[in-house]
Amino acid sequence: MKKDFKCRVCGCTKYSTKTISNGNGVVGFGGRAIVEYYYCNNCSAIFKDPKKFSLSKK
Ligand SMILES: [Zn+2]
Repeated sequence: MKKDFKCRVCGCTKYSTKTISNGNGVVGFGGRAIVEYYYCNNCSAIFKDPKKFSLSKK
């Protein structure tokens, strides 16, 4: 994973990954019950795709 992420909300360059399971924590082998998302370490903004959420370097 590249480290060129930059939060578009606060400019923080660090984020964490969080994986949660839908339902009551029962997850099958299909993996469909798992939802993975990311959040900014500084402002806690939640996003699904760091590349799209990151500020572009244009
Ligand atoms: Zn942020």
